Amino acid sequence: MTQPQGNLLITLPDGVTLPVLPGALCADAPDPDLWYSAQPSRRAAAIRICRACPVIARCGQWADAAGVTSGIWGGRPYTPSWHGHAAADR
Ligand code: SF4
Repeated sequence: MTQPQGNLLITLPDGVTLPVLPGALCADAPDPDLWYSAQPSRRAAAIRICRACPVIARCGQWADAAGVTSGIWGGRPYTPSWHGHAAADR
């Protein structure tokens, strides 16, 4: 597993380590659960925010490298079946 260069990292209480990307729009979102919602309309709202995010490319690169299997990262949904196909779908 690789990490993007120059990132600070935070570790959540469950042990998941996430990058801190300066400028990330989700960092200040009033409803951070959008990125993990099961509701398609809420996930679509997260994707719309991601598409305006200045660090969308780095975020997606990190998610691919880290092998995340849930949530919205870099404007794309990740699931166990999605991972591994992300690079081919770009
Ligand atoms: S692309 Fe989306 S998930 Fe990634 S940092 Fe930006 S807003 Fe957050």
